[in-house]
Amino acid sequence: MSETTVTAQERIAARVKALESIMIEKGIMTTEAIDRMVEIYETEVGPQLGAGVVAKAWSDPEFKARLVANATDACAEMDISGLQGEDMVVVENTETVHNVITCTLCSCYPWPVLGLPPNWYKGPAFRSRIVREPRKLLSEDFGVDIPESVEIRVWDSSSEMRYWVLPMRPAGTEGLDEKELAALVTRDSMIGTGVL
Ligand code: FE
Repeated sequence: MSETTVTAQERIAARVKALESIMIEKGIMTTEAIDRMVEIYETEVGPQLGAGVVAKAWSDPEFKARLVANATDACAEMDISGLQGEDMVVVENTETVHNVITCTLCSCYPWPVLGLPPNWYKGPAFRSRIVREPRKLLSEDFGVDIPESVEIRVWDSSSEMRYWVLPMRPAGTEGLDEKELAALVTRDSMIGTGVL
């Protein structure tokens, strides 16, 4: 990591700290509330929630149709909602299309289903290159080789619209229940930097 990046991060950390102090001082938030918020995103909200949604979509075609039509509403059926998930869009992988998400501007990400974004997702290297040469990046950085016959679509999230990927159900999983299926789904498969 370059020195500039560290400095930028430190600057952001300082700003966050300053905002936190002001909010506590003004009585808008308490230290306890902030700690609890961090704890929720560190331990409770994470890709396991998205994996549950994917498993349900694989098992229930009607739910899948609702998920693809309106991801935010479909997730709410499973009591999954919250910050940065107000307008989520699920893009479905098929035999002919592989989807990848990014946020070229900053780091928009569907928090309620995936938790907080990994550092590389927020980094400028991934964000610029995934748009320019997605096939090469997926192969070189993630070991994911998408056949030339499969189209790669890159979805640029924003604060208004947050995309995530519905991966393909793997062959040979017909006998598995939702819980077993969910255990197969990885965070990267829902970003599109993994297959499963
Ligand atoms: Fe962003």
